[in-house]
Amino acid sequence: MHVLTSTEMKEIDKKTSTDFGITEEVLMEQAAMAIVGEIQKDFNKNSHLLFMVGTGNNGGDALAAARILHNEGYENIEVCIIGDENKGSRLFKKQLNTLKQFGFLDFFEFNVDFKNHVSTADCIIDGLIGIGLNGNTNDLIKGVIDIINTFKRGKVLSVDIPSGINANTGEIMGNAILADKTITFGSVKLGHIFFPGREYSGTIKVAPLSFPKSLFNISHRELVTPEMVKKLLPKRPKFSQKYDYGNVLILAGSSEFPGASILSAIGAQKVGAGLVKLITPTPLSSYVLNHEPGIIYKSLMKDKFSLKDFDLISKELKKASVIVIGPGLGRSDETMQFVRNVVEYSRVPIVVDADALYAVDSLSLRKNIVLTPHVGEMKRIVRTDEINIRQNYEYTEKFAKHKRATIVFKDATTIITNGERTYFNITGNTALAKGGSGDLLTGIIAGLVSQGLDVMEASIVASYLSGRTAEIISDEITEYYATPLDIAKNLYKAISEV
Ligand code: ADP
Ligand code: ADP
Ligand code: MG
Repeated sequence: MHVLTSTEMKEIDKKTSTDFGITEEVLMEQAAMAIVGEIQKDFNKNSHLLFMVGTGNNGGDALAAARILHNEGYENIEVCIIGDENKGSRLFKKQLNTLKQFGFLDFFEFNVDFKNHVSTADCIIDGLIGIGLNGNTNDLIKGVIDIINTFKRGKVLSVDIPSGINANTGEIMGNAILADKTITFGSVKLGHIFFPGREYSGTIKVAPLSFPKSLFNISHRELVTPEMVKKLLPKRPKFSQKYDYGNVLILAGSSEFPGASILSAIGAQKVGAGLVKLITPTPLSSYVLNHEPGIIYKSLMKDKFSLKDFDLISKELKKASVIVIGPGLGRSDETMQFVRNVVEYSRVPIVVDADALYAVDSLSLRKNIVLTPHVGEMKRIVRTDEINIRQNYEYTEKFAKHKRATIVFKDATTIITNGERTYFNITGNTALAKGGSGDLLTGIIAGLVSQGLDVMEASIVASYLSGRTAEIISDEITEYYATPLDIAKNLYKAISEV
């Protein structure tokens, strides 16, 4: 599914009408039917439905839905219009006339009594502002939103996007409706998948309407879906053996951070890599190694990697089908030099994570190198203090283009991009907000690359699987309790699910 900006959505709206002859009126009627369908699932003809209507097309959608329900015999509908009706959009005015022609009379003004309407409604339909929001909510709308958020007792259904959420970033513009459910049209918008918009949207329903599918290709951004992951998951033909599934070389760890490396190695193994070789400076305890005795393990018997080690491992670099470098390395100058040499010398795909991210700054990279920063690492490698970097997917896209590399910007909403195409992963929960989840992810990416996926595909599948596993096991053992090793051991649950 494509993830659209408000401009892209407006373009699709327009072209559907001009190039395909499906008018805005038809689309609005379909949107209204979709809203009605959602309301009918949860509310009956006696339910108190409060329609909050702005004077743009979002309000038009809501008015049309109110009219259909009124016509269906819903008896307890109220409509409250916020703003100057005379200054409303063409379709808003048209819908208001039609509603009146259907004999609907239950309009009321926004006044001191408003709280009572809000607190008695079973469902508040938020059609105040949609993707046409043009800045911070004005005083009037802000007041309305505050009252709804404070005094609601029933459910809130937002039309298209919760009023006050920026459709392009998910930011709250002044204030915003906290919805239980949002019904959007055509496809999801960026504001639905980036926090806080993602949280404010509640459950998201997408009503396709009659938009021609081909028009969505104006967007180069997509949501990672189970269907996508299913298609990408490497095949495992019966007539095959370990050498068909690649050779993952992991260069990770130091005396200071010995654990990270084993998580990466386990990640690669658990998604099906043929051979996983872990080379690490400090010996790991047998306790740690016993977690996965199949891993080929070699310790250099020292504190950390340095340039001197390069010759020793250059033979290994040639054998590898993919390299992981970074987790737990530390950031000493010698280690950074070692990293730079590895990256410059190898031609195979490389997953650069954690401490190694700080070493590649000066290097020119290539498409089959993937950098996997979390927020703190991203800020430091792009050298920005920008506070909104987490929602600023364009920034990440530009950085990927500039570096000529693939970037996995890991967060609660993860951005995967090579600067030309962008994917967003929204699986996962706070079970992953723990040291080690990233190290595991890095290994999973490499394990998938070793089986033939390109780094972009592998990053999509890996992010989805680790997130989905976290969701599945949190139902059983909670987000508090689940650790990266639990994620690793339960990856099969997400794999079998797709
Ligand atoms: P469109 O009609 O462009 O599809 P929407 O109905 O989603 O757009 O949004 C436009 C409506 O929202 C207009 O009525 C406009 O006055 C109102 N609006 C836009 N920005 C703001 C804002 N910052 N504060 C209050 N109202 C706004
Ligand atoms: P570490 O370096 O400690 O192993 P990172 O911070 O590099 O961990 O990576 C953390 C991983 O957990 C990333 O894949 C990130 O997307 C994921 N993650 C963290 N918090 C959340 C969350 N709240 N929801 C979903 N995923 C999360
Ligand atoms: Mg990390």
